[in-house]
Amino acid sequence: MTAPVGKITREDTIKMDGADPIAHLRERFELPEGDIYLDGNSLGALPLGVMERLEVAVKKEWGQGLIRSWNDADWYPAPQRAGAAIARILGADDDEVIVCDSISVNLFKLLVGALRMRKDRKIIVSEIGNFPTDVYINQEVADLMGCELRCVMPEEVEAAISAAGDNLAIVQLTHVHYKTGRIYDMQGITKKVQDLGGLVIWDLAHSAGCLPVQLNDCNADFAVGCGYKYLNGGPGAPAFVFVARRHFEAMDQPLRGWHGHAEPFAFTQEYKPHPTIDQMLTGTASQLATLALETALKVFEDVDMNLLRQKNMALGDLFIALVEQELGGMNFELASPKEAEHRGSQVSLIHEEGYAIMQAVIARGIIGDFRAPDILRFGFASPYVRYIDIWDSIAHLRDVMEMREWDQPKFKERRAVT
Ligand SMILES: *Cc1c(COP(=O)(O)O)cnc(C)c1O
Repeated sequence: MTAPVGKITREDTIKMDGADPIAHLRERFELPEGDIYLDGNSLGALPLGVMERLEVAVKKEWGQGLIRSWNDADWYPAPQRAGAAIARILGADDDEVIVCDSISVNLFKLLVGALRMRKDRKIIVSEIGNFPTDVYINQEVADLMGCELRCVMPEEVEAAISAAGDNLAIVQLTHVHYKTGRIYDMQGITKKVQDLGGLVIWDLAHSAGCLPVQLNDCNADFAVGCGYKYLNGGPGAPAFVFVARRHFEAMDQPLRGWHGHAEPFAFTQEYKPHPTIDQMLTGTASQLATLALETALKVFEDVDMNLLRQKNMALGDLFIALVEQELGGMNFELASPKEAEHRGSQVSLIHEEGYAIMQAVIARGIIGDFRAPDILRFGFASPYVRYIDIWDSIAHLRDVMEMREWDQPKFKERRAVT
């Protein structure tokens, strides 16, 4: 859907909601009355059914079933089941994705494992400005494995890949940038790296659940991603890891634990990796969190990812058009690509008073977030954000600016989580 021509009105956005083919998905969520939630890219909203599932899991399965529930309530294969549900929205096979640990930990496993598959090569390429945990883990693994980490600006990534030549081991990139929302060409970069004999690890934190990712069509090697952002798995939900089946045999991940063993309940002293994706597991799953994520994923069961994508592109286009229409001369600068196809499911604005402005807007119930030093981030989770929400958010933002509402000490005090 394209934004109307000429001056956009609130009426127009009501019409856009009326014509939205996935408007009904909003009913699948518990949303706070009166708030507009534009932070599903940081913590997804609560899908209906999760609370009930957890209540059964705690009261009945844990409380009454106790240890029997690992078998009787089918707890044990929950990481595989949740992995399969994620695989379906990432263009992977059901048994190529598993849910466990955090992105940070899974990235560590993949990096070391992938470097062990390219022992004679010494260069890891990544991006300056990548998500900090990715940078820290990349650097740590490079040091640990005697490799060189080359971080370059996004527009220099392809040149850095070519320059590494046959010393290129790994390229590690975040598909959709967490601050700007800029999207890398997964297919093109994967091919370029593989032509040189390297391997690619994609971080899908801001892709899974909002873009129609096609891991196998892109011949991707490895990926990690987040359970608590667009997948709505709940605060600190476990992450996921993808390994292309062709790498199952060569993969040798370093965090060897009993759940990654071929026979965890044989309790042998020698480690023997599981031949399947299960080898990526380390210890016992955080069971309640895994069950919450598994339940949350039902939202996507019957959803066409292309429709989700079309909607978040349209929401972003509308937001940008309204920034231009309503916030002119207020010193906002667009930090995201203007063209929808190069932009993920968010729009970021730069403003030197960004922190205070965001706090003032949040106080009005418009919930986005702030990323240092000066970025206001607005995420558009297609399943529950409406077109009218975009209109109302911009109207509040304009009020906050016109009345200098942000210019108060209480909005400038930094809290622990931004
Ligand atoms: C949110 C996010 C993470 C989070 O990592 P965890 O270890 O799961 O907390 C990692 N990478 C990117 C790009 C992110 O956006």
